[in-house]
Amino acid sequence: MSHADPNCIFCKIAEGQIPSRKVYEDEELLGFHDIRPHAPVHFLLIPKVHVPSLQEVGPEHEALLGRMLALAPRLARENGADNGFRVVVNTGPDGGQEVYHLHVHVMGGPRPWRVG
Ligand code: 5GP
Ligand code: ZN
Repeated sequence: MSHADPNCIFCKIAEGQIPSRKVYEDEELLGFHDIRPHAPVHFLLIPKVHVPSLQEVGPEHEALLGRMLALAPRLARENGADNGFRVVVNTGPDGGQEVYHLHVHVMGGPRPWRVG
């Protein structure tokens, strides 16, 4: 079963067709640095399966979402955000979502910095 959307940039990153600076990878999840960071530490966590946004999440994704959030503190610490961080999931047009493959932003590092 293929989970990839051929037009999706994050599916291409998950499949290694587009390079990324990885912070984490397992069978279900991938973490990589945001190409345009808004904070000293800014990485994204995505499921490898193509889910467009939080609006398409179903009961079958609950464990996956839980794992993504549970991983955030460990990866934040390992990547230099050891004094707290912010988690953001932009969802839909009014949520400012640009890439329609579910992703969790993890942003931290020494302040000042702010997300616009
Ligand atoms: P959002 O959809 O939550 O508004 O933002 C998508 C995020 O993905 C942006 O912060 C943007 O910088 C990041 N992004 C978009 N394309 C790429 C890419 O090709 N590589 C990486 N590493 N990040 C990307
Ligand atoms: Zn995708």
